[in-house]
Amino acid sequence: MKVAVFSTKAYDRQFLEAANYPPQHELVFFEPRLNQKTAILAASFPGVCVFVHDIVDAPTLKILASGGTRLIALRCAGFNNVDLQAAADLGIKVVRVPAYSPYGVAEHAVGLILTLNRKIHFAHNRVRESNFSLTGLLGFNLNGRTVGIIGTGKIGLILGQIMKGFGCQILAYDLYRNPELEKVGGKYVELPELFANSDIISLHCPLTPETHHLINAQVIAQMKPRVMLINTSRGALIDTQAVIEGLKSRQIGFLGVDVYEQESDFFFEDLSGEIIQDDVFQRLTTFPNVLITGHQAFFTEEALQNIAETTFANISDIEQGRSCPNEIFESP
Ligand code: NAD
Repeated sequence: MKVAVFSTKAYDRQFLEAANYPPQHELVFFEPRLNQKTAILAASFPGVCVFVHDIVDAPTLKILASGGTRLIALRCAGFNNVDLQAAADLGIKVVRVPAYSPYGVAEHAVGLILTLNRKIHFAHNRVRESNFSLTGLLGFNLNGRTVGIIGTGKIGLILGQIMKGFGCQILAYDLYRNPELEKVGGKYVELPELFANSDIISLHCPLTPETHHLINAQVIAQMKPRVMLINTSRGALIDTQAVIEGLKSRQIGFLGVDVYEQESDFFFEDLSGEIIQDDVFQRLTTFPNVLITGHQAFFTEEALQNIAETTFANISDIEQGRSCPNEIFESP
């Protein structure tokens, strides 16, 4: 299939070309994000391949459909950026990569926890400047602490297993129990109990209308003082302004995030030397106990290879009229 690949970075191209060798599909790479203005680039391409920040709304889909597009292949799991109803109305199929890096994301969450706790980023800078003082670097043992995991699917389960290895107690909340987590001693509780008893809270549920601003002023007040909050899931699970107030009052002791509510305005881009206009984000970066990474939790070799291989398997399924296990449909 002739496929227009949007939001292409050098690493995307490297892994997509490797997985497409010997070439099965004709790939044309575009750096811009897909939106109403750039959709014209895909004229005459039956396939369009996109990532998390591409805007696949109804007007964009209309332009794509008029140019002959009949497949949107997402290189990610989440599809909140796609108007599925509009796609269905226009006869455009949508496929995704449902799980590409559960270990990578869980391990990144652990990296945030360890770095925030033991202040490894500060220590690294100090030692490079021949400052070997330990003042301000005091951490705590993870062994014996309680970790609350919200959302115990693929990633939440792996985080639970890893943290169990550190000797932590695991409290969990999900709409459905995962017996695998219970096997390693994870205990399912209601949210108020999880908030009240966790030293570390890590979010691994999807962003839905129910989970939007799941972490807000009211629940922050229910948490243990000096709680560590970790979010590698989706930015809008957290009410950022409420978290800033929690950091200022010291109710929140540590914040580690790989995602941010308004991240699509700047994540994945090199804006060094430019003026960031988002004052809320800029305020977050001023706290010494806040660690932010730019949506890189998934970013491992294994994930990029898995994304590329699954994307081409999806495209081949649709091209050859087979049913595709990764096709997504608008729920009735
Ligand atoms: P998953 O579908 O395997 O697990 C999600 C879990 O959340 C499920 O068990 C589900 O029952 C639960 N859930 C749904 N609604 C809930 C609610 N209201 N309250 C509590 N739990 C609820 O997904 P996963 O692969 O573990 O991914 C989790 C999230 O991680 C994704 O939704 C995505 O947003 C995020 N993610 C981030 C990155 C990154 O690079 N930062 C990469 C991949 C995924």
